[in-house]
Amino acid sequence: MDCRQLVRLEDWQQHRNQHRGNQNRGWSARNRSDQRRFRTAVLKRDGNQCRALLENGQRCPVRVGLVAHHKVPLHRGGDFDPAGGVTLCERHHREVDRYAR
Ligand SMILES: [Zn+2]
Ligand SMILES: [Zn+2]
Repeated sequence: MDCRQLVRLEDWQQHRNQHRGNQNRGWSARNRSDQRRFRTAVLKRDGNQCRALLENGQRCPVRVGLVAHHKVPLHRGGDFDPAGGVTLCERHHREVDRYAR
């Protein structure tokens, strides 16, 4: 997955808020509503559950605090097509964004 725009905690929080469709500094109303639609579609497709796999091959059971993560970050040409999104819990989202290569 490709989402590594983050380094500082502040940036991380902003990034996470974007996935959640919360108040996004600098986002237009259009972007915000696109993000809300994107998040709803991605979470619904994934059954409102984190898509990451645990070490034992089972799917992560977490269903709270989910974000619709963009596999390709918006600033790198990603869009709001749900096909490019993946549902992740807070922990796995953080791992993906920090360690994805
Ligand atoms: Zn992300
Ligand atoms: Zn998870």
